Amino acid sequence: MSQNILVIGGGFGGITAALEAAEVGHEVYLVEKAPYLGGRVMQLNKYFPKLCPPSCGLEIQFQRIKKNPKIHCLTLAEVVSVSGSAGNYEVAVRVKPRYTAPYSADLRELAAGLSKDVENEFEFGLSTRKALYMDVPFAFPQRYTLDMDNLEETDRKKLSKKEFINLEDKEKTITLNCGSIILATGWKPYDATNLTLLGAGNLVNCITNMQMERLAAPNGPTNGRIQRPSDGRPPKKCAFVQCAGSRDENHLEYCSYICCMASLKQTQYLREQYPETEVTIFYIDLRTPGRYEKFAQRILADEKVRTVKGKVAAVEEDLSSKGVWVTAEDAVSGNKLQECFDLVVLATGMQPSLSGEVLPMDVTMDENGFVASDPERGIFAVGCAKEPLDVMKSAQSGTSAAMQAIQTVRGR
Ligand code: SF4
Repeated sequence: MSQNILVIGGGFGGITAALEAAEVGHEVYLVEKAPYLGGRVMQLNKYFPKLCPPSCGLEIQFQRIKKNPKIHCLTLAEVVSVSGSAGNYEVAVRVKPRYTAPYSADLRELAAGLSKDVENEFEFGLSTRKALYMDVPFAFPQRYTLDMDNLEETDRKKLSKKEFINLEDKEKTITLNCGSIILATGWKPYDATNLTLLGAGNLVNCITNMQMERLAAPNGPTNGRIQRPSDGRPPKKCAFVQCAGSRDENHLEYCSYICCMASLKQTQYLREQYPETEVTIFYIDLRTPGRYEKFAQRILADEKVRTVKGKVAAVEEDLSSKGVWVTAEDAVSGNKLQECFDLVVLATGMQPSLSGEVLPMDVTMDENGFVASDPERGIFAVGCAKEPLDVMKSAQSGTSAAMQAIQTVRGR
């Protein structure tokens, strides 16, 4: 029996599982595809239950990781093959080159001197970044990454022979031995370009709920000022379109669990920032799982917040004002409603990151891409890899998976 535990995915659930297992003495390999740990939580402005910023939970976790020599973090890394069985897996991990020094160095000036700007995926396209970047707040590890695919030849010359840059860095594959595997691969926002009736991601002032998180975040592209992407004006009339892609057999057939609470939270962002802004929430059902009923009641009691029960049939651009027309049928009155808003937020749902992926290992996956634990084989699923969950429940499932992985490698 190998006593080592592999955790695939370095978001909140994966980090929790890794820490729990390492702190009782197991060597843990934490494999993350992105250059930095933190996952989706890192992109939020605030998260439930306490509506604190990501730093309040993640920075503590990063400190715990730093202090624990039993956690081996592999970023820019992907599992490429798995063989063996519970207690004795051999896992090959491909680690991409980062092309920068293996320690923290301030490369801001070097990055700013590069010519090409590329879409910033962390900001969901709301801003750009350079090919040399570390634009994740309180990044862990604190290291710049060089995106070689977007490095212009002239920029390459600027970087050659610079201290802290290693253009000769190479991809490598390492082999790990572990007794149990935790899958914490997380989720991705449902692709709004699939939502043809809701603007297909082409309307400048129709954004997704994750873009709204970045607009509201003090470390985001507008320093926390919520504004219309087209002209930077504050939105005076804002609408939320619930179940954008969720509970729909043409898209995601399930309820994404978090997006009602996300819209209520974002309504609070708007109302705190702009006391005069009116908000309309178009919904089928407003779901407030767990302890959030009072929070919802408080937000909905606001006289500037209106709810319309009815599915939105169309979202279209007003060509002159760049406003966004929303067409819906009010299910209570039976009337068709058509109204123009300054800003529309699509409450897009969560899709498991593994959906549509070819996996390097045999796992039980449903038709939506959610994976199931397989205790016999010592494989345990965590958080949104397994079902739509909020941050707190993902962390709880990380603890639970760590416990089961420990039992597996200890033969109990
Ligand atoms: Fe729709 Fe709300 Fe469920 Fe999201 S949480 S899918 S918005 S009912």
